[in-house]
Amino acid sequence: MSDQKKTVLVVEDEEDILALLHFNLIKAGYNVDCATHGEEALAAVSAQKPHLILLDLMLPGIDGLEICRRLRNDEATSEIPIIMLTACGEEADVVRGLELGADDYVTKPFSIKVLLARVQTVMRRRSELQEQTETEELVRGALRIHPGRNLVQVDGATVELTFTEFRVLEALAGRPGWVFTRYQIVNAVRGEDYAVTDRAVDVQIAGLRKKLGACGHYIETVRGVGYRFLEGL
Ligand code: CA
Repeated sequence: MSDQKKTVLVVEDEEDILALLHFNLIKAGYNVDCATHGEEALAAVSAQKPHLILLDLMLPGIDGLEICRRLRNDEATSEIPIIMLTACGEEADVVRGLELGADDYVTKPFSIKVLLARVQTVMRRRSELQEQTETEELVRGALRIHPGRNLVQVDGATVELTFTEFRVLEALAGRPGWVFTRYQIVNAVRGEDYAVTDRAVDVQIAGLRKKLGACGHYIETVRGVGYRFLEGL
């Protein structure tokens, strides 16, 4: 952690969870702001911009998804990392939240250790993202991706990909560890909204994994949500 304390805003209406998060985040060296409903959360963000938001989705008043949407649509707050706190069985909300621009999610009940690790990871990813240049060659384990040239190598051997497969891979590998919904993958490939079935994305991924051979497992399935490129290669 840097020398300057970072502020985490916790938005959660269940008081015992809020207290637990507050206690452990302080212990881990963060400044902590708390909000128990949507309006309070938005007011807290305007009063002092946090470095990261832990956002419960089921809130009285303005719910978590709406908060996420508003923050992302406002230039002043669009870059604040958001980790959603979700209940089991809320996959549809997780998908919507990621599409609205949330960075990650943690399902309740969660382990504090896991949650703190996510907080650190998401903060780090955000700063890496700001440094990353678009034309840089991506090297991930045994995989090399040359963005400008539509060229991919696995263990030094060139692999032929279709244009769509290449764009899917480029999007996923460009943000290791980030969960992409199928809709986000389509957007990354086409650059705009257009109707495509989930099945079509699954077919692209299946083809891609096969062609990548030894690196095929770099693309992980996130059940009920989408796909993610392996982190830490
Ligand atoms: Ca709640």
